[in-house]
Amino acid sequence: MQIIQVALDIPLDHFFDYRAPDGEILTQDDLGRRARVPFGTKMRIGVIAGISEKEDSLCDPLRPIDMVLRDLASLPSDWFGLCAFCAGYYHAPLGEVMLSTLPAALRRSTPPKSRRERNIPSKAPAFGAAPPELTLEQRDILEKITGAGSGFKTWLLHGVTGSGKTEIYLRLIERVLSEGRQTLLLTPEINLTPQLESRIRERFPDVGFACLHSELSEAARARNWCAAMSGQARVVLGTRLAVFTPLPELGLIVVDEEHDASFKQQDGVRYSARDLAVFRASERKIPIVLGSATPSLESWANATDASAPRRYALLSLRARAAEKARLPLVQRIDTRKEKLRDGLSGALLAGIEKRLENGEQSLIFLNRRGYAPVLVCAYCGWVSHCERCSANLVVHLADRRLRCHHCGFEQGVPRACPVCGNQDVQPLGRGTQRVEAALAECFPQARILRIDRDSARSRKQWEAFSERIIARDADILVGTQMLAKGHDFPGLTLVGVLGADAALFSADWRAPERLFAQLMQVAGRAGRANLPGEVLIQTQFPDDPLYAALARQDFPSFADHLLEERRQAGFPPYAYQALLRAEASLMADALAFLSAAKERVALCENAAENVFVYDPIPMRLARRANRDRAQLLVESPSRRALQSLLRLWRVAIGTIKVSRGLRWHLEVDPQEV
Ligand code: ADP
Ligand code: ZN
Ligand code: ZN
Repeated sequence: MQIIQVALDIPLDHFFDYRAPDGEILTQDDLGRRARVPFGTKMRIGVIAGISEKEDSLCDPLRPIDMVLRDLASLPSDWFGLCAFCAGYYHAPLGEVMLSTLPAALRRSTPPKSRRERNIPSKAPAFGAAPPELTLEQRDILEKITGAGSGFKTWLLHGVTGSGKTEIYLRLIERVLSEGRQTLLLTPEINLTPQLESRIRERFPDVGFACLHSELSEAARARNWCAAMSGQARVVLGTRLAVFTPLPELGLIVVDEEHDASFKQQDGVRYSARDLAVFRASERKIPIVLGSATPSLESWANATDASAPRRYALLSLRARAAEKARLPLVQRIDTRKEKLRDGLSGALLAGIEKRLENGEQSLIFLNRRGYAPVLVCAYCGWVSHCERCSANLVVHLADRRLRCHHCGFEQGVPRACPVCGNQDVQPLGRGTQRVEAALAECFPQARILRIDRDSARSRKQWEAFSERIIARDADILVGTQMLAKGHDFPGLTLVGVLGADAALFSADWRAPERLFAQLMQVAGRAGRANLPGEVLIQTQFPDDPLYAALARQDFPSFADHLLEERRQAGFPPYAYQALLRAEASLMADALAFLSAAKERVALCENAAENVFVYDPIPMRLARRANRDRAQLLVESPSRRALQSLLRLWRVAIGTIKVSRGLRWHLEVDPQEV
């Protein structure tokens, strides 16, 4: 009889055995098909991962598959390979990985209706702009990439915003299309997909195109996914989960903004879509292009480190592509030397004033939403602390609420100190709302738009804002990093940066890398069209190497400097890390679990060689939503050594008796330690 191995979304490392449905014999064609199977008292959808023969036996307890779903082609073997690699490298259950990569509609027992595809092929837009003539730099880069052939190679394309990276992607896509192959383009942010989508559709109006991200309806997502898998979609644009899309004729992968932390999945299976994309390209033997103005240090080291094998080839775009578009002038404003007006320096105020006179736009960037980060009583020292987290409640004056940005807890702003009754409780520090209010006072005639997660909750709202900005229906924008990424605002010529200094001294050693990327990105918003841009950074540390490199727009020297620091400290990318995290109602339980896990390392015998195991410690945000959180870091200069330990260790951890309500997970290559 046939034994069918079915992968199910169950946190166990093995598949589940079933018999074929009564009266049916499965063929190799059914490998990779979905199947509805009984599991416990319910039906579940799984993926057929193996078919084998066994002698009939009367006492066989196997239950039959309820139904093999043949509405779609079988999932291809390279999809299995990618899932298996992901499960192995991130130490996640294979069935969970496999099922989590499928669109939700395909994980349910009712198949999606096969309606006519709406998005595919794409409609030609009314105007079709002719592609620009390539600059010398662009042409040179294209020749290098295409000259290297169609095999596997990882290219790191470094170029500031506006240097013409996207134009290079488009030319590469054009070539891949002409060879009859598909392209997968990954972007970190849903917010960035509409822009890329319209550029692709405009350039290739007759080509099947599909978008894949989490804001699509379930039906649309399933439809687009199926179009990708059937080969109908020739260009697929998506966020991180799209890295798993089956693409039979894949010829090129592009990862835009490759440094972006959003490529790392933060719950469930904690994979890096960028790293999986590189693996996928190597398996499929196709080129992959990682693009960024500020590559991750991992990628930068892979491309430039003279002491290690160069795994990536570096390509650089040094100037802005469009004629007349110049890099913005970045200046530091030393705020130690003057009295600020509500946190705003004279130079910044004068800069805004000038833009108002010229009918140009200014953007004030402050990565902190709300009115003020905390409310305090100067009399007794009370601070607005969240009852459920080790964090402060943020003052939101617009609706007179105190809110926790970690757990969502909120309450009204008290009229008096809840401890001593002092009526003069004061907001301390500033967020976007407070800056907005200060600007309204300084420039009563200006139209001010605040853009953060409070004012733009949905993508629709954000797009409405973005249209207003492009229509010049706003003079001053105040916003968080939401505003920093990728958007082209032709009227914007001044960017002011507030409150960035804290990241220079953060306990998180990746903070400077992120700050630099963020500031480069926000600086890139200024002066994209024919108007020159100016960036003013308010700081008390104008001589910090980070700001100095930023003023020169010199990512390479800053990256080299950080890499040298990392090398000396033995931090990634010169070490490989994994984090075991635990959360429980009591910190003692979480720490006890991690201590037990640490003891288990000894059971892994020689695998623990060359791996350093730290002590369990509470996380920086030690308590969130009434759960205490702790972590245990393991580290090795050798990826292989770390991986062999993790394989044994995870099994050993599974044998620890945990206290009730304790949850744990393992994260490989964590971004925040
Ligand atoms: P990036 O992706 O690096 O931000 P883009 O490819 O979006 O850069 O290019 C920035 C701007 O310059 C876009 O408006 C684009 O149309 C334009 N552009 C790109 N390449 C050229 C070129 N060779 N000549 C003229 N304009 C160009
Ligand atoms: Zn008080
Ligand atoms: Zn809270």
